[in-house]
Amino acid sequence: ESSRARHMAPGKPLEYRKHKISLLANVSSREEAIAASDSGADGIGLFRMENIYLTSRTIPDERFLLKQFEEIFSHMIVKEITIRLVDIGSDKTPAYLDFKNEINPALGLRGIRFLLKHRNLLQTQLEACIRFNRKVPIKILLPMVSVPSEVIEVREIVSGIKGGEKIPVGAMIETPAAVFNFDSILETSDFISIGTNDLFQYTMAADRENKAVAGYFDMGFETLYGSIKGMIEKSRDAVKDCTICGEIAGDREYISSILKIGLTRFSVLPNLIPQVREEIMKCNLQK
Ligand code: PEP
Ligand code: MG
Repeated sequence: ESSRARHMAPGKPLEYRKHKISLLANVSSREEAIAASDSGADGIGLFRMENIYLTSRTIPDERFLLKQFEEIFSHMIVKEITIRLVDIGSDKTPAYLDFKNEINPALGLRGIRFLLKHRNLLQTQLEACIRFNRKVPIKILLPMVSVPSEVIEVREIVSGIKGGEKIPVGAMIETPAAVFNFDSILETSDFISIGTNDLFQYTMAADRENKAVAGYFDMGFETLYGSIKGMIEKSRDAVKDCTICGEIAGDREYISSILKIGLTRFSVLPNLIPQVREEIMKCNLQK
């Protein structure tokens, strides 16, 4: 295999109604990062750390995380990389961590809630991210935010670590509470990422994996249409990036609607990048 650094294929710049469209990738592994790079993605919109934690037999330390980041990303030159802190809890519980049995784990200690209760885990990840940032600029994304104080608490830790002052910290909007608290979360965050998978699940009270209620889950978009539009507009007014990284961003059925409500940043699985590009180009012809 060639040892040349892989570059993101430049591709044609995408636009919709004179707005530049960013096509980013959701990845969890080196293979997916390579696929993203090869598909001409503009960057990594969502790096999910769960794989690293679920495949490790012990608690990953800072060195281990840093090595993982290097292995996954060093082969490519990307314009942007967003690393999401590990979203564990709910159904994803590594054996080496002491999880309490929860009757309702989806509504339990998950994502940023878990990390704020396990400060050593949070600290390790932030330090690894900040160290990696010295070589490759990254942004830090917080999963399962529901109130602005969660973002503020993390920012305090980040700014206490040398080199952390300038790292952008963003919030996932994937709980109904985060939608209701959007104004204050936007104020405390450098960027926003809307996770429609969980947002639909929690809003519609419909398990994202349960086929019996898939009809309800699918009504998440029309139910949240105005809210999503509002969040995109408010982010634009605040000159802060707003990305959708849930599966609807890669779904042909939804792309024209989400373009119309003003979304300019799509983050999708690497293998969907060509079809999303094609769909956006088609929407351009239709306007
Ligand atoms: C989401 O909830 O939409 C999301 C992108 O995060 P995940 O699928 O990893 O929960
Ligand atoms: Mg989610």
